[in-house]
Amino acid sequence: MTELTSIPGFQLAAQGLTEASAPANAIPKRETKVLVSVDKVSKRFGDFVAVDDVSFQLNAGQFLTILGPSGCGKSTLLRLIAGFMELSTGHILIDDKPVEAVPPHRRSIGMVFQRLALFPHMTVAENVAFPLKMRRFDPKTIPARVDRYLSLVQLKGYQNRRISELSGGQQQRVAIARALVFEPALLLLDEPLAALDKKLREEMQIEFRRIQRELGVTTINVTHDQREALVMSDRVMVMNDGRVQQFAAPEVAYQSPSNRFVADFIGMTNFFEGDFSSSEGAPSVEIANAKIEVDPRDNGVLREGARVQCAIRAHSILVGPDAERDADVKFKANIVESIFEGERLILEVKIPELNDVIFKIISHHVDEAGQLKFGANTTIGWKKEKLLLFEV
Ligand code: ATP
Repeated sequence: MTELTSIPGFQLAAQGLTEASAPANAIPKRETKVLVSVDKVSKRFGDFVAVDDVSFQLNAGQFLTILGPSGCGKSTLLRLIAGFMELSTGHILIDDKPVEAVPPHRRSIGMVFQRLALFPHMTVAENVAFPLKMRRFDPKTIPARVDRYLSLVQLKGYQNRRISELSGGQQQRVAIARALVFEPALLLLDEPLAALDKKLREEMQIEFRRIQRELGVTTINVTHDQREALVMSDRVMVMNDGRVQQFAAPEVAYQSPSNRFVADFIGMTNFFEGDFSSSEGAPSVEIANAKIEVDPRDNGVLREGARVQCAIRAHSILVGPDAERDADVKFKANIVESIFEGERLILEVKIPELNDVIFKIISHHVDEAGQLKFGANTTIGWKKEKLLLFEV
């Protein structure tokens, strides 16, 4: 599949290996120094390539989330950075120093994994003090430092509790304090929130972000939860089959996905195929009996007659009077499913003009739920710049 790197939005997304991808409204950075540099890194298990020629750079103070489906190689990449596995090829530099020959405990890396591995027989304070004792910190300085980090994770007053006397969220906070107390250069998180229930997980996402910003600690997080990636990160790196699909600011990956995989993995997206044409004036995509007008930016990027994948976000589709009034491209549609979720309505509509393709739509006009029922006919449509095109 060809990536549309010559379209402005796509260019930004595809460049994304450097700060060039930061949109104007990105969170201001404390520093622009590169802290982690991963250069052409691969990891093979026998004939199987789990991590395939991955390169990226992460600036000091940034929060990166590696996002991808199960088995895409994200945990393996994290383990390579941590030093728990040897690289097959490539280099990893932390703070400009190659780390291949440095054992994990000398890499100045704090870690929080899904299994927290707290010591159940120790108190909260003893757990947090443990990395300081291992690193031979001056014993006189340890209690004050432990107190400082317990305050940071809002566990002041819990010093003498046993781990078994804490809730799941509190245990998580102890693990965070323990990972950060020796002030590592880099924090690695491998799905630490996966075991928590939804509400607590969402609270802890915000909490992690607060602590990370307060300390400015460079962080790499691994998840398959797209919401978590969008909420927490300065940068996301989407992986599939061991390869990087896109490295970009979350809003760039969302608005300008670099290929079909990213468009499908982040957000709710509808796809259909057609043939690109620009011969008769305005560029368009032809499918069945319909000719769909597309954004002129696609002109000159796609070959005349090229087979293209078209992608439209579920929330970019207008329905009913909105579509009649504001859409550039409109279709008659039949509602085949209508799910009322309180603050939003999820519709599934069939479009006869597009070979009976079924589209999912997210509508926030919940007051229209009465009209938008199963079996009803309506108009749907979109503004032409909302349609994303990928050459097949
Ligand atoms: P998940 O979200 O399920 O944890 P992941 O993206 O983190 O998935 P990895 O754990 O990095 O995936 O695994 C990537 C691939 O490498 C998988 O197919 C896995 O089976 C394989 N793999 C991982 N570790 C080993 C190993 N030690 N020996 C052989 N194959 C391995």
